[in-house]
Amino acid sequence: MLTDGFGRRHTYLRIAVTDRCNLRCVYCMPAVDFRWRPRPEILSLEEIVRIAGLMVGLGIEKVRLTGGEPTVRDNIEWLVAKLARLPGLKTLGMTTNGARLREKAHALRAAGLQALNVSLDTLRPNRFIEITKRDRLADVLAGIDTAIDAGFRPLKINVVVLKGVNDDELCDFAQLARAKPVNVRFIEFMPFTGNGWQRERVVPWSTAKSIIEEHHALTPRANGSSDVARDFDLPDAAGWISFISPLTAQFCGGCNRVRLTADGAIKSCLLRGAEVSLRDALRAGAGEDTLAELVRSALAGKDFAHPPECDLAEVENRCMTAIGG
Ligand code: SAM
Ligand code: SF4
Repeated sequence: MLTDGFGRRHTYLRIAVTDRCNLRCVYCMPAVDFRWRPRPEILSLEEIVRIAGLMVGLGIEKVRLTGGEPTVRDNIEWLVAKLARLPGLKTLGMTTNGARLREKAHALRAAGLQALNVSLDTLRPNRFIEITKRDRLADVLAGIDTAIDAGFRPLKINVVVLKGVNDDELCDFAQLARAKPVNVRFIEFMPFTGNGWQRERVVPWSTAKSIIEEHHALTPRANGSSDVARDFDLPDAAGWISFISPLTAQFCGGCNRVRLTADGAIKSCLLRGAEVSLRDALRAGAGEDTLAELVRSALAGKDFAHPPECDLAEVENRCMTAIGG
């Protein structure tokens, strides 16, 4: 079992399979001084399978593939197929920007991917270009429909809410959740190295909810889907909406997550810089016991909670593309 110093059992592993991306979201990727890590620094797919297998053996039950953009990693379907067959793994998911889903959704589903989250912050073409620096909204929307068709239900749609950028589209996204079998999840804007975070740009979840309630009646959803989201039903809706509030109502107390970065480091907290590298030990021929000890040491150093909001912008951390959310 993987437990930290506070007795929290860790069952959820998020794996960044690459730090590369086909979009350039302004809130995620630093505008300056950004470079992809050289390929030799990145774990091979076989190395990822080995570490994931080790960690599933230690009690991980759910794995989510992320990035960078996971669908730009060559042979991602091969990786999905390998991980899906790990004995003991109960759920295999992916978070993607959706731009390649039209080509990939069916193959990923066939390979064994069970759950899919698509990140989409605007439904307006020009705004999409402003936020992502790429003209791919039509691809993402087509990718969402393909993924629903491929059987990813409910498909989750992650919306980072930025004041003055897309907070006038909250009701449009609520409408999307009424029209399609999707769970739209509104997420508070978090600070990471180089992402231009300012407190004034955060829309607290309670404010986002009030804005939506001016036009849509919201009812707390029975049997909420996760411990980090507050789920709400809308009248006559095919889907539902959720709010995720890492800043204004942190959920660290029940944290069960651990992260593997694309270059092979275990990160025990998304919003802290501490990490323990497995890659060099792995490449030097370390056995399972040594690697397991490294994973345990990362969790032993895990703090109970992330720093208070007033200190977050000062934390030395990787940028989000290198962590994977
Ligand atoms: N490229 C994939 C994507 O966009 O879904 C996976 C990686 S991305 C880093 C994972 C998630 O992190 C996305 O849902 C993205 O919106 C979210 N994210 C990135 N920067 C963020 C920030 N500053 N605050 C909150 N969420 C953020
Ligand atoms: Fe790429 Fe995802 Fe970051 Fe956007 S949020 S830049 S799609 S990694």
